[in-house]
Formats: sequence, C-alpha cells, structure tokens
Amino acid sequence: MTNPFQPPAVFHRWGHRLTATLVGLSLAATLAGCGSPEAPATQNSEDLPVVLTTFTVLADIAQNVAGDKLAVESITKVGAEIHGYEPTPQDIAKASKAQLILDNGLNLEAWFGQFVAEFEVPHVVLSDGIEVMDITEDADAGKPNPHAWMSPLNVQKYVANIRDAFIELDPDNREHYTNNAATYTAELQALQENLLAGLSGLTENERALVTCEGAFSYLARDVGLREKYIWAVNAEQQASPRQIVSVIEFVQENKVPAVFCESTVSDAPMQQVVQGSDAVFGGTLYVDSLSEADGPVPTYLDMIRHDSDVILEAMTGGTE
Ligand SMILES: [Zn+2]
Repeated sequence: MTNPFQPPAVFHRWGHRLTATLVGLSLAATLAGCGSPEAPATQNSEDLPVVLTTFTVLADIAQNVAGDKLAVESITKVGAEIHGYEPTPQDIAKASKAQLILDNGLNLEAWFGQFVAEFEVPHVVLSDGIEVMDITEDADAGKPNPHAWMSPLNVQKYVANIRDAFIELDPDNREHYTNNAATYTAELQALQENLLAGLSGLTENERALVTCEGAFSYLARDVGLREKYIWAVNAEQQASPRQIVSVIEFVQENKVPAVFCESTVSDAPMQQVVQGSDAVFGGTLYVDSLSEADGPVPTYLDMIRHDSDVILEAMTGGTE
C-alpha cells in the first residue's frame, strides 16, 4: 500500500510526454485559432511573430485572439504542474526568441519572475483589472487566489488585455485582433449564461463544490456554489490528515453527494474523503492544464463545459 498522504507524483509526469507534446504544439501553431475550423492556406507559422504563454489554458485563449497572425505557444506542456514548474534550457532558448510573453499573474507562476527577468522580451499580466479574490484558508490565506481564469467573466478581461497587447505588438492587424476578441468575448458570455442555466436546477446540498485544490473560488462565486477544498494551492507538501478530516466533516454536515479532484494532481487524498464519508467520487475536473488535442478538453471553452457537465452529472446522480 502506498501512503495516501504522500504528495502526488505529478511533478515529473510531463517529462516523457515532451516530444509528443512538442509535435502537437507545432501542429497546433500551424492551424488557425483553436476555435476556427479552417486552416490558413499558405501562411507558414515559422514566419509569424511568436507569443509565449506560461500554460496551455492561456495559450488557447490567446490563440483565439491571434487567429492566423501570431504563433502562440505554451511554455509548460499539457498535464504539467504549473505552480512549481522549473523552466528548462529549451524554455529559455524559446523565450529569448519570443516577441511577447503572457502570464497569469496573482503569484500563479512562482517561477516566472526570475525566468522573465533574463530577457528583454516584453510581458503582459493577463489578470490585470479583474476583481481579485483572496485565499481564505491554510498557509496562503490572505494571498490572491491565482485561478481567475476559471471564471469566464474574468476571461473577458483577459481577452481585452490580450487584444491590447497584440495591437501594441502588431498595430497593422488591429482590426483582426479587435474582431477576434469581440467574437470570443461573445462566446465567453454565452458560456457563462449556459453555466448558470445548467446549474440552476441543483438543490441546496448539491450546490457545494468539493475539490482537491482551491481552484474554483471564482467560478463558485459566479454561479452561486459554496466551495470546499483539501488544499489551497498545489505544492509539494499537501493533504494533511487534518485537511482531509475537515473536508469529510464538511461533506457529512452538508450531505454533499459528490466530490472531485483535478487532472494535474493525484486524487488519492480525495479518495480518502470518499472512504470517510457518504459522498461518491464525481470525476476529474480540469483547471491548470488543458488535455491533448484528442482528449476531453482541448480548449478553454471545452474545459469549462466539461467541468460543468461532470459536476452536474455527479451531483444529480447521472440522471438526465
Ligand atoms: Zn492550480
């Protein structure tokens, strides 16, 4: 038996996928924006200015604004642990050739400040201007919760920041970026309305979202769910027995029917909650990384829809 309280073995998971992911990334960069079905006929992605983002979620959002005018790539790969990431020599080589770097801010990328300080490349913080929520529990209490992109309303602000950064980088294509940003913003607004409609049928005890990481604070606020998590932000040491017990008590007191964990961490601690309570394990949610192109959440819009579907299905016992 393994120790259920050991830190999840996620920190090395991305390494052996590197080659496959790089192939996937360059393919993705060759195609037009992730949301658009037609590929650009003649544009060679190697000629395009390169925009680097710190993780896959931001890359997809930015690609929707960039369309076929910029090559957007993510420094961290699909499935990576993004909070405690350590940049590689290849990352540094890549970043030194980029024209623009986009990061989330709010202390998400602990490694990023030092990383970006080594280059002359301009960088833009995408969470600038959102209403920040603070972490309320654990050692990180009082610090900003970095997971602002889990709110489609916040992402409308991210998109405006991306649009402005692209126009500054490439003023000739101002209209292209403005139009793409408007189109994608309308999709985000529709997504938010569908979320509210979908979750509106949940009963009071079903309106509690229990997850491994405290990554859903913004989404929970937007759609009226209470939130409980085992740990606030992914780190090497997490899931103490005290934290597990606290979640079990919450689940039992509130008769929460299902609990969840995220794709980039081990769900072993949440399985302990399941064993110690009447809740079932409701499934895997995506937060800090998209999936591969052929997986369940290749885009940001897919990710929010997928999480919402998994939550609804588990909370209502899978009945339609
Ligand atoms: Zn996270």
